This record gives sequence, structure tokens and C-alpha cells, in this order.
Amino acid sequence: MGYMHKVFLTGSGIYGCSNCGTHLALKSNVTSKLYTGQYGRAYLIDEVANVRAGEEEKRNMTTGVHIVKDIMCMDCNHYVGWTYITAFSADQKFKEGKFILEKELICDRSRDWD
Ligand SMILES: [Zn+2]
Repeated sequence: MGYMHKVFLTGSGIYGCSNCGTHLALKSNVTSKLYTGQYGRAYLIDEVANVRAGEEEKRNMTTGVHIVKDIMCMDCNHYVGWTYITAFSADQKFKEGKFILEKELICDRSRDWD
């Protein structure tokens, strides 16, 4: 117990960690590409794999105050984005439980399945 198995995603489009290539998300789970992270463009994603979350933090963002946790690649500990725990304004509630992956910190691993 407590041991995390690394998941190998299958599908037509896969994003991986830019540092070690570990699979992180399916492109089909991306709901928006219009977010901004610490390193530029970022994607809002319904579901991610092979990440571990950091401590809860209260962060003041352009869309208001949110409780978030940074997420790191489970394999190499490379920071890749964050997850929304709580949003305080009603129009931001849809983000709770979703994830942000920063475009600069992930890579396209779709070719694993070519
Ligand atoms: Zn990694």
C-alpha cells in the first residue's frame, strides 16, 4: 500500500513530462488551451496520471483567489502545473478537481503509439 504504479496511457494523443517523458494526460481530456501558467500557455485538463501533489496553497490568480496544489511528475519530480482544490467565486467552481499542465513543461508523446 502507498506504492504508486506508473500508468502508461494509450490513445491517439498523449502529453508527457518534458523532462523524463512519463505520460501525464490524454489530449482528449483537455478542455481549454487558453489558460496562463507561470511559464506561459497552459492547458485545463479533466484528468491527469502519474503526478503527485504538493501542499495546499491559497493563490491569488487573475480569475480570483483559489486553493491549489502544485503537481509534479511522479517519476522525476519535475513541476508540471497545478490542480484546483477550491474556487471561491461561483463562476470559477467548474475548475475544482481539474488540472493545469503548463505547455512549456510537457511534451507530445503521441508517437509512442505510432
Ligand atoms: Zn518526469
